[in-house]
Amino acid sequence: MLKPDANKPALLRLRVTSAAERTLRQGHPWVYDKSILEQKGSGQTGELAVIYDRENQFLALGLFDAASPIRFRSLHVDAPTTLDRAWWGGRLAAACQARVKAFDNQTTGYRCVHGENDGWPGLVLDRYDRTFVLKLYTAAWFSRLEEIAGLIEQQLSPERIVLRLSRNLQAEARVLGLADGQVIKGAPLAGPVTFLESGLRFESDVLRGQKTGFFLDQRENRRLVGESAGGRAVLNVFSFSGGFSLYAARGGARSATDLDISRHALAAAQRNFDLNQSHPQVAACRHESVQADAFEWLATDPKPRYDFIVLDPPSLAKRESERPGALTAYHRLVGLAGKHLAPGGILVACSCSAHVSTSEFYETVRAAAAPLQFRELRTTGHPSDHPAKFKEAEYLKAIFLQFV
Ligand code: SAH
Repeated sequence: MLKPDANKPALLRLRVTSAAERTLRQGHPWVYDKSILEQKGSGQTGELAVIYDRENQFLALGLFDAASPIRFRSLHVDAPTTLDRAWWGGRLAAACQARVKAFDNQTTGYRCVHGENDGWPGLVLDRYDRTFVLKLYTAAWFSRLEEIAGLIEQQLSPERIVLRLSRNLQAEARVLGLADGQVIKGAPLAGPVTFLESGLRFESDVLRGQKTGFFLDQRENRRLVGESAGGRAVLNVFSFSGGFSLYAARGGARSATDLDISRHALAAAQRNFDLNQSHPQVAACRHESVQADAFEWLATDPKPRYDFIVLDPPSLAKRESERPGALTAYHRLVGLAGKHLAPGGILVACSCSAHVSTSEFYETVRAAAAPLQFRELRTTGHPSDHPAKFKEAEYLKAIFLQFV
């Protein structure tokens, strides 16, 4: 691994457009390549860069990424400061201590560091019991990896730290001897780890699974589903490893049906049910799996109707150009799901697409549900361990409807 260079003086000096100056001052963490007017210094990825404003005053200190359209990610604004080990340590402690306070020993899986929103742009740290997963979305962190892993070790006493890399970083990482799924500190690992969420035990495939192995961001929505699933037949569409179904089962659901296109996801859901047989309601709940394309399966004739349907698709708009198609798909899903819902049934529709705004998602779901009679129960957003402090960070939204 490369040696840390966080203590090197910042050599790179940037000037940016007045619009970019304004958004930085307002706390937005990104400057795009097209907003950079002047660059003095070599501009290597991972270098610390300083932005000076038009009065030649210090404006922001951040990470430079020569390969990304997000060229500068802000770490600190207003007054100059030195980013030494104590500074990084303080920033990590600030994020982690907030989480320690928020969760008891029945929840040992949660997000400790949520990227920009916790002052760590392009970096996520998730905890699964004593395994910590560090996921990087910019190569600018590579040169600081050793130092950050050291701080995690010092502050959080992990059994191991697993490195995960977004796909676009993997080739560059290989050159440095780093790989997606590599254990960078602590005990080796061959398969999934287990952890608790609200007293339920789940596995997380931290080495290979989507995100860091589990959709920690849906915890609060899963709790809400668990609270109103009693006596109901639940259909969990896009189930992944059965998170919503387990909460529903423990909440007294009559049956829980997981529907996913992935055989691996359904097998994980079955293992998660097996892990929770000590809860009498889970043991009593009939659990079924359907491996199918959700759009095709929902378009077939409703067989028995369900009293509760959860729709939690993967991101349907990964880029802005996919936004209209995503809205059409959400509309279609809600219309199709409505046909499978019994009178009095509850529908939960979720979106994790940052390119689809909260209001347009709700409007689309409401429009699709309009021909059926429904009352709106609630809408939800981000949980506390996934704070969203700027517009592009707002990706998660859900709406709960009850058909009358
Ligand atoms: N609700 C889950 C997370 C869902 S992730 C939770 O709480 O953990 C999205 C899931 O959708 C993945 O498991 C993926 O395999 C599945 N998926 C993607 N496209 C699909 C399709 N067309 N039909 C059914 N499932 C699909």
